[in-house]
Amino acid sequence: IVTVAGNVERPRNFEVRFGTPMRDVIVLAGAKPDTDRIIMGGPMMGYAMPGDEVPVVKATNCILVGSPTLFPPPPPEMPCIRCGECAKACPVDLQPFEMYWFSRAKIFGKAQEYHLFDCIECGCCAFVCPSRIPLVDYYRFAKSEIWAREQEKEAADTARERYEFRLAREEREKAEKAAKLAAKAAETKAKLAQQEAAKAAEGTAAPTPTAGDDAKKALIAAAMERAKQQAAAPLNTENLTPDQQAQIADAEARRAQALPAEGKE
Ligand code: SF4
Ligand code: SF4
Repeated sequence: IVTVAGNVERPRNFEVRFGTPMRDVIVLAGAKPDTDRIIMGGPMMGYAMPGDEVPVVKATNCILVGSPTLFPPPPPEMPCIRCGECAKACPVDLQPFEMYWFSRAKIFGKAQEYHLFDCIECGCCAFVCPSRIPLVDYYRFAKSEIWAREQEKEAADTARERYEFRLAREEREKAEKAAKLAAKAAETKAKLAQQEAAKAAEGTAAPTPTAGDDAKKALIAAAMERAKQQAAAPLNTENLTPDQQAQIADAEARRAQALPAEGKE
């Protein structure tokens, strides 16, 4: 339900779907030709819309159609005279002029100390102000600046936390990698030591005799035995009979005779 009022022929309530352009609603209400602005909300707390194509949203409870006659230009802003009228009119018992000073000076911390965020933006202070200071505009400006700074701080904190988390993760991964490499190196070292110990054990251990070795040994022993027997056997030129000795002498003589003849030739 949206209330349409102000510079229209037929002010009334309309049942409007979200997203409907405000233009369509004020045409139904009969907007007058001298319409110069559209305000969402009431005359004191409403916001001027940038155009008539703005859609109706959940917060659109009232559309106030304005004209120069209905909303004449505000008189020029004058300096605060600290009369205190704004404080008397405030329904929340705030100090509007203090909040105004600190908001204008952009000392937002002090403005918050004066309970800036307790202000309901009713506009009573600005209405009674003899200096015609748009006090609510200053409060809205201060609030938006504080929110923006808080968002920036939150984003910076998030970025810092992410950076620190990334650093911690990189450190952890580095440590895990180093531990894995150390474990692998220790394993390799242990394997090498094991292999060297096995080799040393093989070098010192007596060779196990095999069947082939036994056969070789038997052959060698037999050969040595034969050589011994041959050395112990008598020469075939010993213990000869006289006939045998005569035959040998005869053969030697013939050989002696044959040798000079061969040398002459
Ligand atoms: S009413 Fe206006 S002039 Fe008076 S103290 Fe408040 S801000 Fe200042
Ligand atoms: S706009 Fe804020 S400071 Fe001004 S009267 Fe209303 S509640 Fe008080």
